[in-house]
Amino acid sequence: MMSQKKCRSVRVGNVEIGGPNFVIIAGPCSVESEEHLQETAAQVKKTGASILRGGVFKLRTNPQSFQGLGNDGLSVAKRVRDQLNLPIVCEVTDPRQIGDMVNVVDIFQVGSRNMYNYSLLKELGKIKKPVMLKRGFSALIEEWILAANYVLEGGNDQVILCERGIRSFDKVTRNTLDLASVSYLKQNHEFPVIVDPSHGTGVRSLVTPMSLAAAAAGADGLLVEVHPNPDKALSDGFQTLDFQQFAGLVNQLDPLLKVLNRPLYTL
Ligand code: PEP
Ligand code: MN
Repeated sequence: MMSQKKCRSVRVGNVEIGGPNFVIIAGPCSVESEEHLQETAAQVKKTGASILRGGVFKLRTNPQSFQGLGNDGLSVAKRVRDQLNLPIVCEVTDPRQIGDMVNVVDIFQVGSRNMYNYSLLKELGKIKKPVMLKRGFSALIEEWILAANYVLEGGNDQVILCERGIRSFDKVTRNTLDLASVSYLKQNHEFPVIVDPSHGTGVRSLVTPMSLAAAAAGADGLLVEVHPNPDKALSDGFQTLDFQQFAGLVNQLDPLLKVLNRPLYTL
């Protein structure tokens, strides 16, 4: 087996991403209401997630689609995070949001559409919070690393990479999940790497098998979309797991992580 580079792990409260344990980040694509986020957060925490996800500023391909709750969603995210004592990752889409977000979010997510937004990356280099940088959907691994270096250059070395699939010619899947990038990055770079099998496939039934494959490829964790009723979700329901399916994922992942000597971190 090829040797792995030593990982520069990132700490979020008690959770270490890129450390000895595998980490699951889970939650809805978008924050929809306080009750909705609360219910989802409590359930994913109980099932094995140690970080909550939930977007409030949504970058949608169609301007008619739900754009997220914006600053109201941020207040909801803060209350739920504090009540459940669960760190949260939220996507930042504009440098002007950083001031409002910095006291709420534990990890700033940079989405695929913004991987090349160097002014945003420079601003995130100035803060003292972790940044999860998603791969641009047509980005070379080299361009992705250089984008991460923009954050590092600013003085913030808490960068996590997230493989979320790249655009390819096939229409069966939303994206082509490039798991070779994960093994490559673990062999050649020091960043923690997590995998998003939800956007990476765009197909609910493929999320669990690709999660297992991501762990085997050497990923440090997962970012998974979970919703109480995916068919009613305001965004990305087709690739979202319900609570039972998420529990099934964790149940299948658990024994594999033990074999890999990378047990799941639980709160
Ligand atoms: C997301 O995680 O909510 C998201 C929009 O993902 P991506 O930027 O990878 O499309
Ligand atoms: Mn989504």
